Amino acid sequence: MRMSLIITLSRGVGARAAGAPPSYAPGMTDLDAVQARMAAVYGERDAARGVPATVAWLAEEVGELAKAARKGTRAERLHELGDVLAWLASLANQLDCSLAEAFARYDDGCPRCAATPCACPDRTPGADP
Ligand SMILES: [Zn+2]
Repeated sequence: MRMSLIITLSRGVGARAAGAPPSYAPGMTDLDAVQARMAAVYGERDAARGVPATVAWLAEEVGELAKAARKGTRAERLHELGDVLAWLASLANQLDCSLAEAFARYDDGCPRCAATPCACPDRTPGADP
């Protein structure tokens, strides 16, 4: 079961039906592959740039993603999602942290209520109490 989920995800997001959420199983290591790819492509440059500049680039890319999410095309959204993930992976590499290890806090569901789906009250401003 778990292996089939991993294979499905490894084929890429385009393999799933439009609108369907990606499948997830605890312990998946796709994020390790993302970090390894970024380390191979940009590792030396990242180390020379340093953490503060990388954080600034990540923040700038998040701003561009926010704009694309609001009024961009699908292609623009994919571009910015990729850039944010790339900069996040670069930052994690420089901090000697594993994104997969960081995300493990969601392995048992919502970190706050431990339910899947989350059973916490909606804290979005303007949401019903
Ligand atoms: Zn919750």
